[in-house]
Amino acid sequence: MHLHRALTAIFDFDNTFARDLDGFYAPQAPEPVREPAMVRFNRPLATLLGLDADALDSPAGAAIFAGNSMPEGATPLAQAYAGHQFGGFNPQLGDGRAVLLGELLGTDGRRYDLALKGSGRTPFSRGGDGRAALGPVLREYLVGEAMHALGVPTTRALAAVTTGETVYRDRPLPGAVLARVASSHLRVGTFQFFAARGLTHFVEPLLHYAIGRHDPAASDDPNPALAFLRGVAERQASLVARWMHLGFVHGVMNTDNTTISGETIDYGPCAFLEAHDPRAVFSSIDTMGRYAYGQQPTIMQWNLTRLAETLLPLVDPDEARSLALASEVLRSFVARFDHEWLAGARRKLGLVDEREDDDALARDWVALLADQHVDHTLAWRRLADVDALRPMFTDPGALDGWLARWRERVDGRGLDDRLRAANPRIIPRNHRVEEAIDAAYAGDLSVFDRLLDAVRDPFGDDPRHDDLAEPAPPGFLDGYQTFCGT
Ligand code: AMP
Ligand code: MG
Repeated sequence: MHLHRALTAIFDFDNTFARDLDGFYAPQAPEPVREPAMVRFNRPLATLLGLDADALDSPAGAAIFAGNSMPEGATPLAQAYAGHQFGGFNPQLGDGRAVLLGELLGTDGRRYDLALKGSGRTPFSRGGDGRAALGPVLREYLVGEAMHALGVPTTRALAAVTTGETVYRDRPLPGAVLARVASSHLRVGTFQFFAARGLTHFVEPLLHYAIGRHDPAASDDPNPALAFLRGVAERQASLVARWMHLGFVHGVMNTDNTTISGETIDYGPCAFLEAHDPRAVFSSIDTMGRYAYGQQPTIMQWNLTRLAETLLPLVDPDEARSLALASEVLRSFVARFDHEWLAGARRKLGLVDEREDDDALARDWVALLADQHVDHTLAWRRLADVDALRPMFTDPGALDGWLARWRERVDGRGLDDRLRAANPRIIPRNHRVEEAIDAAYAGDLSVFDRLLDAVRDPFGDDPRHDDLAEPAPPGFLDGYQTFCGT
């Protein structure tokens, strides 16, 4: 018992959301589970958070991350938010299966939310059971760590625990809880919840809170609301540009899954492209292709427009002026995205200076990948190994024409190193993620561990990971789907 108390005192919480935003959440403890067991604990992340990894990677740690024992200083709560889901507005979503335990200051000086996902029912659960299955928890763990290693802002898993209970989806599955770390859980949908109810006196403190956490410079701006909108738009432009370069398809870019921080959140129906295809969709419920790979920049601008709407009364008391100012920021998203995309493309092409026609060179390359259905990740990577690249193209003539232009343009000195540093070899390919999940359901975590090791070294050439760099066997992706809300 003494040991237990020492462990729950391990977190040095400082819970600004609970303190400053009374009325924006429902106090809610996690629902205890039958039999907590640690599946995997993220030691590097624990270290970043200044936590005692040895103490937490234990049965007592499992009890905390399952929600059975409440650490000292935690103020568990379910956040309110709304959201446009596939274009339709739902005024009441909220944390239906998650609770925020509190905030921690990392050793990097940044503030992090620590939340449990799959922690039981809350006032926002609607018809849901408040729970998560082991497979989606492991997917979120893997893909979050991959994204982090790839340099993409993302929420991350601190721990995955099983509950000893069964959840019922299309079949009975082992229940699990994910301990999730995020720069915050503020979303476009958080603003929408209050704006949709006409509660400007709620939107205003929310804005100031969000500025404090993510855009401190905006508080000194003559127009803080507008500066904040610009900040979110810039972070999201950079984020989506990174997704596009990685061939990442988020799959459910609803406004409740669009963060204020600019981090990727909610790895439900996400997937990585194999053959490059702007129309690629993997989510079973995205029947219209709203969130297809190539749609993502457009959708992000649409989501930011929904955020802008919530801020209009705070941008300027004059409606027309407010609209004009916000519209200008929203328009600039396109230029910002293009700028970020081109900067990323230059790095991936190994270009060290800027020239006028770089954009055309990059776009023609991507068009070539789409035309010939070439594996997105390997094609970029094999710019450093053209002998291996050529067999990937059914019409190598078109490739040779483009290669001649690129070679003329690029500085050959140190090129291979630049290309390898900018173009990953290892991504969490969909068939490998499925394999890891299937093995975990069968009680074997070695497949997960091996994949996790590999995705944490995405730019390396470790021969032990060779098979994980390869595309799926023919036919695997035909009809491949991942499922939301699982
Ligand atoms: P998501 O699509 O996972 O971002 O979730 C959308 C909304 O559905 C959020 O309000 C979630 O909290 C809620 N939700 C998803 N799954 C469940 C579940 N199993 N039980 C209760 N609420 C859920
Ligand atoms: Mg969500």
